[in-house]
Amino acid sequence: MTAPSDLHALFCKIRALGKVYEKARSLGAVLGAGNAKTDSPGTYRPVGSTCPASCPYLGAGCYAQQRRTYMAAVRASAAHYPAVVGAVAAVRAGQITGRLARLHVSGDLGATRAEIDAYCSDLIAALTPFGGSVESPIAWTYTHHHPRDVGPWLDRLRAIGVAIRRSDYSGRWGVIVLPSFAPDVVARARREASAPVVKCRAQLPGGATCATCRICWDRPDLVVAFRPDGGTDRRIGAVLT
Ligand code: SF4
Repeated sequence: MTAPSDLHALFCKIRALGKVYEKARSLGAVLGAGNAKTDSPGTYRPVGSTCPASCPYLGAGCYAQQRRTYMAAVRASAAHYPAVVGAVAAVRAGQITGRLARLHVSGDLGATRAEIDAYCSDLIAALTPFGGSVESPIAWTYTHHHPRDVGPWLDRLRAIGVAIRRSDYSGRWGVIVLPSFAPDVVARARREASAPVVKCRAQLPGGATCATCRICWDRPDLVVAFRPDGGTDRRIGAVLT
């Protein structure tokens, strides 16, 4: 695998992709080369204006309102079209580097149903030519929206290869945040879940990254558990208790 250590240099080496990347940036899209956890190209959207107002972490420890992720999020356009063009560039970069794209590292599908519909329909139109499917995904992401608020979009996105997991949900395609990975905490989560719970491998010893782990898109049958890290510990803990 080629390390996407410098997405801009990578994009510029490939003429067509360079144009997509520059177009996305000129529209206000923000793209990143990933971090030690994801090691994958990703897109950013603003936090809050693209998120459900009901998200319990908004302003209360959301990781995307911290440090470098926040710096990227505040630069991203709130409009859906730049995010769609950015997604095309990220998916292409992922294909070139043997990775999946991580869509909206910060932000979500949209704050209103009209914004969700516009983003998802254009995203599907733009990414369908990549030929992804549930079995052969091209990107992955997470949403704090309840399925009742997003209509058919979650299934439609998965059908074209965007593996989208549901946050704060202890069932199929779910992810949860636990106060810690203490044995009693994990055991309780496993008792209460309707699907087997696994701990995020990037938060365990062993040096896994999303690019090597792949659970978030390969195992919809599992619930992925995260624990807060760094500066989010105290604030997230307050939300979880
Ligand atoms: S479980 Fe695997 S794919 Fe999912 S976030 Fe953790 S390291 Fe990445």
